[in-house]
Amino acid sequence: MLLYLHIPFCHRICPYCSFYKHTPGATSIGSFIDALTEEAKQRLIEKPRTIYLGGGTPSMLSPSHLSRLFTALHEKIDFSKLDEVTLEANPATFDAAKAKLFRELGVTRVSLGIQSFAPHILEILGREHTVAQASESISILREAGIPSINIDLMFSIPGQSKADWEETLQHTIALKPDHISAYNLTYEEDTVFFESLRRGEMRENEDHDAEFFHLADELLEAAGFDHYETSNYAKPAHHSSHNQGYWRGEDYLGLGPSAVSTIDSVRSKNIPDTARYVTQVQSIGHALHESESLDAEARRLERIALGLRTKDGILISLLSPDALARAGHLANEGLLHFSNDRITLIHRGRALVDPIASELI
Ligand code: SF4
Repeated sequence: MLLYLHIPFCHRICPYCSFYKHTPGATSIGSFIDALTEEAKQRLIEKPRTIYLGGGTPSMLSPSHLSRLFTALHEKIDFSKLDEVTLEANPATFDAAKAKLFRELGVTRVSLGIQSFAPHILEILGREHTVAQASESISILREAGIPSINIDLMFSIPGQSKADWEETLQHTIALKPDHISAYNLTYEEDTVFFESLRRGEMRENEDHDAEFFHLADELLEAAGFDHYETSNYAKPAHHSSHNQGYWRGEDYLGLGPSAVSTIDSVRSKNIPDTARYVTQVQSIGHALHESESLDAEARRLERIALGLRTKDGILISLLSPDALARAGHLANEGLLHFSNDRITLIHRGRALVDPIASELI
């Protein structure tokens, strides 16, 4: 089982972000930490294989809040048996002392939300950090002894040229991270970017998307990264074990406001409201808000959609006879490949994962 903890706080809100998050405002972070540790006490029964602290910005928690949270986790979990403990971080929110604390608390992997090394793109994205802070944060984490460092990047951003993207990729490679995630910007509902798109002030460009995707694939593979999932690249032995668990369909427990869990084919979601989350956990020990049972068909479709994103692809036996015939046509177009009992996307097909998944489900 995988364990996810959602920390909803950010210093400021990026205009493209659709995760559940907010500035601390009137919320007491101390009460939130108390509620999160209480929820872990009540709901964490099975031993997890990995832990992932996401958000929001977990790295903006103060040293004392981080220590309180991890002390509670260490009481429940033998960290020496875990495959991986990941913490999402923003370069503007930690210094050398805090990075050292991450390591002392048991963090093995830090995922840095950098997005771009071009100042004008960071400005468009409303990011809190500077290019210098982003570059320096890698050496701070290395010196603190963090074994695995990921850099999150984003492409197809309005105002981003191909040269900007290439420069960001080259800058990233030069910093020698262990893992890189490169996401195509998507315009999610209820974001400022989505509104700009609706008003015609921003435009999607599928040609750009594919071109930027292939540039990342070419440069990062040439630099020794394994392109093991649509948006993810790893140096040997630095693949994200937690995310691989999601893609393989392992059970996961999500704690914190808005966190989703899937256990024994039941998907549930916590209330997406931090104040109500805290009150509810204080009174009844959990903050479950909705749940549904996933039948075999729903799980099969999910296996296809997630598996096609990975280098390992999917088992042919997951496809219906009609979908298998359509897969044959896609293979003739050079978009996917049949080998033994599996199908994997290749060449142009890797940039077309969503439309191809729709064809096959
Ligand atoms: S820092 Fe991360 S979680 Fe917070 S608003 Fe920006 S993208 Fe969203």
